[in-house]
Amino acid sequence: MRHCDAPRNKGCSDLAAAPPATRDGHVWLAHNNDLGASARDQLTVTRLRVENEPEILAVTVGGWFISIGMNRAGLALTGNQLNANDSRVGIPRLLMVRELLAQNTLEAALRAALHPTRASSYNNILSSRDGKIVNVEGSATAAALTWSGESGGALAHTNHYLDETMWRFEADLAYLAMSETRCTRAFDYARRYRGKIDFDICARFVRDHVFAPWSVCKHAGQSVTVFSAILDVTDAKMWLAAGNPCQNDFALLDF
Ligand SMILES: [Zn+2]
Repeated sequence: MRHCDAPRNKGCSDLAAAPPATRDGHVWLAHNNDLGASARDQLTVTRLRVENEPEILAVTVGGWFISIGMNRAGLALTGNQLNANDSRVGIPRLLMVRELLAQNTLEAALRAALHPTRASSYNNILSSRDGKIVNVEGSATAAALTWSGESGGALAHTNHYLDETMWRFEADLAYLAMSETRCTRAFDYARRYRGKIDFDICARFVRDHVFAPWSVCKHAGQSVTVFSAILDVTDAKMWLAAGNPCQNDFALLDF
């Protein structure tokens, strides 16, 4: 997803849930990160401690480019690679990810995501421990926001534009089917488990094999699941599984 912009060699699947969609009233995130299999060797867990910024705990590629993360201010960032046709010279989205996680409030992170001179955008899922999630489906020149409060608490996204106003920016039509299978399953979980989403439902989602080989837990093709993450944003907990989560246990990171 985020760190491999080569067409088709990317993907990732997200389910994000806030009250009233969660069982315990917490904010729960489930994220599978799909890249070329060789990326597994470059993944690291990184802490960023910068003066006057909240500490960040992130999964990075090579200790440098942030894939997903959370900070001490109670914010989390997950999301998806998108391919838009309006990319331009401007602030690279890889650097914007770092800026988003340096913020202290959801509103400030949202402003950072919508920076007017951005070169392009990921689909940024911004979550806060106070129970709000906003999905920022962006391109360089436009964005569509979806708040958890408008959708029963649960949001889902993969690697194509969902909002009707953003369809005209889709640059990789050939990839749509491989993204839609995973997106369909994410929305299935959001609907079926509304009010019940917790760690166990998130773990079931990231191990889902329906529509294989184009499944949420992805084993074949140019991109495979290189890591899986479950976050309890409310309690600032992050569980990670290296490789495919159906074959590897989740370990809780200390933050
Ligand atoms: Zn699997």
